[in-house]
Amino acid sequence: MHELAVTEYVFNLVKKQADANKVSHVDKIHLLIGDQCDYVPEIIEEYLQVMSEGTSLAGVKVDAKVKESTVLCKDCGAQFTRHEFKDACPKCGSANLKLNRCTDFIVENIEVS
Ligand SMILES: [Zn+2]
Repeated sequence: MHELAVTEYVFNLVKKQADANKVSHVDKIHLLIGDQCDYVPEIIEEYLQVMSEGTSLAGVKVDAKVKESTVLCKDCGAQFTRHEFKDACPKCGSANLKLNRCTDFIVENIEVS
């Protein structure tokens, strides 16, 4: 249920922006979520629907992109996404790797009307 806290964060952030810019309605929120965050975008959207009732965000949609963790080869310096990562560097075959866990959570932009 840790999506609740992050949804409150998103809601407050977007609401503030919307109010400051005198936006009449926020249609969509674009999120960038690191693959180590473990947030489920559908749940964030559900919470947002509830929280936004009667506000300028009512019925807002969420569009989430996943940002993949990267792996750095400590031998040859190659950098690749976790997706391509098996147990060895795809370039030099070294197993001397460092995983950079992506735990980013970013509100990329919002669509308004
Ligand atoms: Zn390598």
